[in-house]
Amino acid sequence: MSTLIRRDLALLPKAHLHLHFTGSMRISTLADLATTYGIRLPAALLDADPLHVPADERGWFRFQRLYDAARACVRGEADMRRIVAEAAEDDAREGSGRLEIQVDPTSYAPFVGGLTPALEIVLDAAREASAATGVDIGVIVAASRMRHPLEARTLARLAAHHAGDGPGQVVGFGLSNDERRGETPDFASAFAIARRAGLASVPHGGELLGPAHVEDVVGHLHPDRLGHGVRSAEDPRVLERVVDEGVALEVCPASNVSLGVYATAADVPLRALVDAGATVALGADDPLLFLSRLVDQYAIARDVHGFSDEELAELARSSIRASRAADDVRARLLAGVDDWLAS
Ligand SMILES: [Zn+2]
Repeated sequence: MSTLIRRDLALLPKAHLHLHFTGSMRISTLADLATTYGIRLPAALLDADPLHVPADERGWFRFQRLYDAARACVRGEADMRRIVAEAAEDDAREGSGRLEIQVDPTSYAPFVGGLTPALEIVLDAAREASAATGVDIGVIVAASRMRHPLEARTLARLAAHHAGDGPGQVVGFGLSNDERRGETPDFASAFAIARRAGLASVPHGGELLGPAHVEDVVGHLHPDRLGHGVRSAEDPRVLERVVDEGVALEVCPASNVSLGVYATAADVPLRALVDAGATVALGADDPLLFLSRLVDQYAIARDVHGFSDEELAELARSSIRASRAADDVRARLLAGVDDWLAS
C-alpha cells in the first residue's frame, strides 16, 4: 500500500555529489554572460534541447566543444560567484542539503590572477551560498585528464591546503574529462597528495569506458567514490570488487543517456547496481547541457526503474552517507529522510 504513495521528491533530503561548476549554470545565466562579453554561443547551448550525442570520439568532441563555449563565458570573479550562488539556490529547491560541487580552477585562473585566487573565490562563494540557502556546500577540486599529470599534482597541493569539512572547504580531489585520454597511473601521485591531506578520492571512471577502466581507476587512484562507474555492471567480478572495497558510485542517468552510453534511461543499470549492494548517489553532472537536474534523476529511478518511496529514501540516505559532510549535517539530513517517509 505504501508503494502507492508518491511523496514529493523535491522535499526528500539528499546530497548532491556529482555536479560540475560550469555544467551547473542556468541557460539564462549563460545567455546573460554571452551578451555581456559579446560572445556568440552555438545554438545548441540555448535551444532548450538536451544534448544527445553518440558514445564515440565525435560525440564526446561535440560535448566538449559546447562545454568549452560555455566556460569561455565565465570571465571573472562576479561570474564565478554568481554560478556558485545559483547552483546552491537550484539545489536548495530540489531538497539537496549537501552539495559537493566540482571545479577545475585552471580555466578561470587567467581572469582572476592565478589558481589560488580562482579556488579561493569559489570557496568563499560556497561559504556565502551555504549561509544564504542552508545547503551545506563542499568543494571538489578536479584535475583534467587532458592536461599534464604535474598540473594535477599542483592542484592536489592547492586542494590539500584548503581541506576541511566545513562549508566552503575542499572535501575531495577528482579527475575529469575524456576517459580515453591520459594514463590513469600517471595521476596516482596527485591523488596520494590529496589523500594524505584527508581529501576524498573522487575520480571519474567507467562511463565511456567499460569495466576494465573501472578496475584501472580503482586500482591506481583508490577512489572513495567513482564518478559514474556504471559500466562496472558489465562484469560481475568488477562490480563485486567495487562493492567489497566500499567504492560509492555517483550515478547520473540523464548524463549517460545524453552521452550515448545507454540508449534510454531504462538501460542505465541502476537496479543492478543497487541490487549488487553498491552505494549509489544520484547526480545531475551537467544540467546546462543535459537539461536534467537532481530531482529528475530521482524521478527516473521512480518512474523508469520502479523504485518505491522506501527505495528512493534509501538512495537519498546512500548519497548522504557517501558525502563528506560533517557528522551533524549528515545526522540532520538522515533524520529528514525519516521524516519524509513518515509524512
Ligand atoms: Zn562528471
